[in-house]
Amino acid sequence: MNLVSSLKKIKGVGLKTAEQFTLAGIRTVGDLIDFLPRTYEDFSHITTIANIAPGKATILARCEKIATRPVRRGLRITTATLVDSTGKLQAVWFNQPYRETQLKSGEEFYFSGEFEFNYNRYQLTNPSAELVKDMPVQTDRILPVYRSIKGLKTPLVRKILSELRPLITMLSETLPSNIIKDENLMSRSQAVLTMHFPEDMADIEKARDRLAFEELFQLLLASQLNRQENAKLTGWHIPFEQPVVANFVKQLPFELTGAQRRAAWEIIQDLERKTPMNRLLQGDVGSGKTVVAGLVACQVAHFGFQTAIMAPTEILASQHAETLSKLLQPLGVTVGLLTGSVKGTARKTLYEQIATGSVQVVVGTHALIQDSVNFYKLGFVVIDEQHRFGVNQRQLLLAKSEHMPHMLAMTATPIPRSLALTVYGELDISILNELPKGRKPIQTKIWSPNSRAQLYEKIDVELVAGRQAYVICSLIEENLENEIKSVQAEYKKLQNSVFKHRRIGLLHGKLKSDEKDVVMGQFSRGELDILVSTTVVEVGVDVPNATVVMIENADRFGLSQLHQLRGRVGRSVHQSYCYLVTSTSAKPTERLRHLEKSNDGFYLAEVDLKLRGPGEIYGRAQHGALNLQIATLADTKLIARAQKQAKSFVASGVDMLQYKQLATQVQYYQRLTTLN
Ligand code: ADP
Ligand code: MG
Repeated sequence: MNLVSSLKKIKGVGLKTAEQFTLAGIRTVGDLIDFLPRTYEDFSHITTIANIAPGKATILARCEKIATRPVRRGLRITTATLVDSTGKLQAVWFNQPYRETQLKSGEEFYFSGEFEFNYNRYQLTNPSAELVKDMPVQTDRILPVYRSIKGLKTPLVRKILSELRPLITMLSETLPSNIIKDENLMSRSQAVLTMHFPEDMADIEKARDRLAFEELFQLLLASQLNRQENAKLTGWHIPFEQPVVANFVKQLPFELTGAQRRAAWEIIQDLERKTPMNRLLQGDVGSGKTVVAGLVACQVAHFGFQTAIMAPTEILASQHAETLSKLLQPLGVTVGLLTGSVKGTARKTLYEQIATGSVQVVVGTHALIQDSVNFYKLGFVVIDEQHRFGVNQRQLLLAKSEHMPHMLAMTATPIPRSLALTVYGELDISILNELPKGRKPIQTKIWSPNSRAQLYEKIDVELVAGRQAYVICSLIEENLENEIKSVQAEYKKLQNSVFKHRRIGLLHGKLKSDEKDVVMGQFSRGELDILVSTTVVEVGVDVPNATVVMIENADRFGLSQLHQLRGRVGRSVHQSYCYLVTSTSAKPTERLRHLEKSNDGFYLAEVDLKLRGPGEIYGRAQHGALNLQIATLADTKLIARAQKQAKSFVASGVDMLQYKQLATQVQYYQRLTTLN
């Protein structure tokens, strides 16, 4: 038996069991060894019933009496009397009627749960129950709990795994030995052994540490290697031409912020180098990233190169095209817009203009990465709201140049440092940490749905002053569950009653794109007072005269998403407001409170990382593919350790191929995160 053997080779695994495992994605002995416990039950500290104290407790007892009764619809309570030699106590389970069958036998079980005062008496609530004779003898009664697999009982999974013990003790080491020593890590076999057959809780921590370190080390090593490979590429050399840049800056209706100047300068210097730029421009909502990209595009065009700017939505792409035309056309730089809704001859003509270079700056959606789009000489690629794109899409666009073009990814979702190191390890980062002059912090308030009328009055004050407002709802269509607001219903309601005297527009993703353009155009020209919209305006949309954003069912949105939505206002010198209307008048969530308290996207991203994990921030698709088993990208300390080791590993110039397993995994991560 070895790691690639079929499961049927294991003693006690028949055809049926093997099939159940396969359905859960476990095919080989190696897969099963990698199937690590989700958590553990600690039966190592056992109290007697006479000595039990409130809190988490484990007892060794038999079940004397057990019965289940329905309490109300959807709730069945099972109560049992548990007995040991020192006394009796009551245990209670909610909606676990199978406990009756499980416990009826009268055999001895370990019960582990919360001993608490409830319904006027002390009881053990929802305890887990483990048959004593099923307990593996060799452990100190800490039981691994695995993700449940349909048709396979946990004791069976444990038993099958215990058959693999000898094999696990022989697992080969995958990390370089000097790193194991430096970082004081468990050996691989020891770590996996401990995870499956732990002897005490402290060991589990150490085993986890080792396995998580390994995952992060591989990931960071991959980005180091990608960086190294990128440095070997030759890109386009685009020199700095001071008069071109000065001309562009002179005609701007505002002065660039210091941060914008610094970022632009960092980018311009990168373009002068032979190696292609890989840079992330991070700046909170409204910090003015577009104009930085425009400035660079201007200089790029001057040397005969094209720029491609990819945005995640049509609304945003056409807005960018318009903004950039205004800035660039007067300087003789041509701008084109390519989205899914450019059709027929117009599309053909545009393709030609892109291919012959007569359009110098091409703004578009995913339409840009289609096969039929050929550039004349693509020198600079900008990915706006980059967290909305997968690595693949970025790669496809970059592949449209004969040399690797310079790449600038822009994002308003600030990435906490720890995340930036792991998943964006191969990018250089520029930060816009300064808002344009004269901006006032947006005032944010959580609002109870019961006082909506007062809120409408407040909004109307702004409209009277000539400002505009967004009303954001989570759904498009009317629905029965009326506390979840839909744009269509809200639109009708506002138009027929409260805001009868105002000009209201309706925007959502199901509209045709020319319909969207019309509405968005009207709103940005100030021809509408209120825009009732779904989250299609979540990112990027820029209407500086809008000063109110009212978000219905705010508790249904994520923190980063709310911060983005709020960022639709506060884009001018006017005081702006964000109202978070909750679904019920109940206590607002922690998320909303953080938002009310802070306008700082970086702070909120850190909070979001803690509350919801990195998947939501980094983009589920990419994070999902990383498939980290143990490590979390929120573990800053471990990331720093792994980063240090990955750097010195690369610097030492050792041949990766010496470490076969490591090399395979690293190559996988490299493919997943590479830009080339
Ligand atoms: P984001 O960083 O969110 O993409 P935008 O590029 O959309 O921000 O810019 C937000 C708004 O601020 C736009 O209306 C833009 O014209 C304006 N703006 C950008 N830079 C400055 C500046 N230095 N001074 C004043 N307004 C600016
Ligand atoms: Mg933007």
